Formats: sequence, C-alpha cells, structure tokens
Amino acid sequence: MKEKLLEVRNLKTYFPITGGLLGQTTNYVKAVDGVSFDVYRGETLGLVGESGCGKSTTGRTIMRLIEPTDGKVIFDGKDIFNLKKKEMLESRREMQMIFQDPFSSLNPRKMVKEIIGGAFEIHSPNMKKREREEEVAKLLEIVGLNPDYITRYPHEFSGGQRQRIGIARSLALKPKLIIADEPVSALDVSIQSQVLNLLNRLQKQFSLTYIFIAHDLSVVRHLSDRVGVMYLGKIVELADGDELYSKPLHPYTRALLSAIPIPKVGVKRERIILEGDVPSPINPPSGCRFHTRCPYHMRICKEVDPSFKEVADKHYVACHLVDG
Ligand code: SF4
Repeated sequence: MKEKLLEVRNLKTYFPITGGLLGQTTNYVKAVDGVSFDVYRGETLGLVGESGCGKSTTGRTIMRLIEPTDGKVIFDGKDIFNLKKKEMLESRREMQMIFQDPFSSLNPRKMVKEIIGGAFEIHSPNMKKREREEEVAKLLEIVGLNPDYITRYPHEFSGGQRQRIGIARSLALKPKLIIADEPVSALDVSIQSQVLNLLNRLQKQFSLTYIFIAHDLSVVRHLSDRVGVMYLGKIVELADGDELYSKPLHPYTRALLSAIPIPKVGVKRERIILEGDVPSPINPPSGCRFHTRCPYHMRICKEVDPSFKEVADKHYVACHLVDG
C-alpha cells in the first residue's frame, strides 16, 4: 500500500479584484476552485493544462507562497494552513520549489555559493562558512556542475546550467517534496531532456516526491507516474500516466493529447481543435466549465457541474459523458 505524503482537499485560491473610488472588492479571480488530490511518497504527479488553468497557483498555495482562500493541505501528517510561522519554516525545509524561469529566479547580484547557501543561513544558522561552501560545492557536483563554480554569478551560466543551480538550491535542505513549476519550458528543446533526466536521477538518488507542473503533456509524460489535467481552476481528469495517455476520457484531455504527434510510423490520432480561448476565471462558465469549447457538449453540461468521480481503477473524470 502506497503511503500518502500530501493530501490536498477542496483547495481554493481566489484573488480579489478591487475597484471603485473606495477600492472595495468587486469580484474574484477564481484561480484554483476546489482542487483535491493525493501525492504518494516517491511518485511524480504531473499537473497539466493551458496557461491560466491554475496549476502554478495550486503549487504555490500548497507551499503557502500564496495564502489559500479555503481548503486543506496535509503534508506528512501536518495541516499546513494551520501551522504557526516557526512550524511553517520547518515544513518549508521539506517542501521546495523549482521555478520556471532560470533567468529571473536567481538573484543576479549573488554568487552561486550565496544563492544555494542562503538556505543554510536561514535553516542552519550555526553552520560555519567553510562548511556551507563545501555543501554548496557538493550540491553543484550532484547536479552535474563544476564545484569550482561556487564563486560565479548567474550571468556566467547558460539557461540549462542556471536551472541546474535552481535544482541544487531546492535540494540543499534535503526536502521530501519538490514542486517543479514548468522547470524546462524556458529551455531549448535540446537541453530539456538533460534536465528531465537529471530530475529523474535525483528522484531515485534521494527518494524524492515530485509535483511536476507543465503545459505540455509530452514533457509531463517523461517523468510522471500519475497525471492530473486542469481546466479553469479544477482538475477534470486524473489517472495513471499510461492509462491517461492510452485511454483519455475527458474531451479536454483528448484535445490536448491530439496535439502530440505519435512517434510510431503509420499511427495517427485524430486532431481535435478547440475553439476559442480559455474563458475568464472571474466569471467562469456555468455547469461544466469546459462546455463553451467542448465539441460534445449537451444541454445538461451548461446547467450541472459534473462531479469528479472514479470511473475505472484510480481513474477519475468530471464529465457527463463518462459513466462510473
Ligand atoms: Fe463536454 Fe459536457 Fe463532458 Fe463538459 S460535461 S466535458 S461539456 S461533454
């Protein structure tokens, strides 16, 4: 039986919109609107969807980089949203984030030893400077960089190398969970697979658990045991990676997958072109949020929000077309 490391229940993150002379709240951007899932120790859960679907906000809310509007997150038995500041700092050691943009996520005025070693200053204030530098050099080696680079600045590295520095920083405090938010989308395609292979190796080496956020289903496939597909602040389908890629059930997942070329010669997938853009999360469509773009929508879709139900073993879908 796999052990849960993270439980996310009915997570909501709304951002207020202010207006008028008095600057009162007039509405909310419902970036994450009732998301629930589990993450098991040692696995990678991929979260995918178009930009603006709420996947990054989900990751940041779990880390409490953004405060939630509602819901619960249990990490390693601890109720994250009820932790006091000091307890939260302790939990932050065990949950780390890798950011999308290796150019803006590293402070350009700091040397690598300060960027990576900064975590030790906060969490291990008694660690000696020399010890800290040795740890940083070791971390550089682990991510495939020359340990002599500790005195270099971010601008002296390529994009791929900078992302390796970001990964080394995330490993510094020996975390249990890493939330990787689009970690390769800012990189050249030729570099992407190197970074994905590195993440794969590190997961085995350090028994890490990942939430891997990406807009590209083919990138997520590379690394994920299970995949959740998000649309307008909700998860619409969640299943084992193999099952999701071979038997996608939600029309949105099928449309996303239809855009990925199949490597086998002679095998073709029917391309499903979605019309229009993702609607605004300020006033999302009634019923099924996907109904304004779904090629199969029915009358009920506009009126009733489909429940997120298990339709096959550990395969969950929210769609009126799919019966459990
Ligand atoms: Fe399409 Fe209706 Fe299913 Fe939504 S519930 S995905 S609109 S068929």
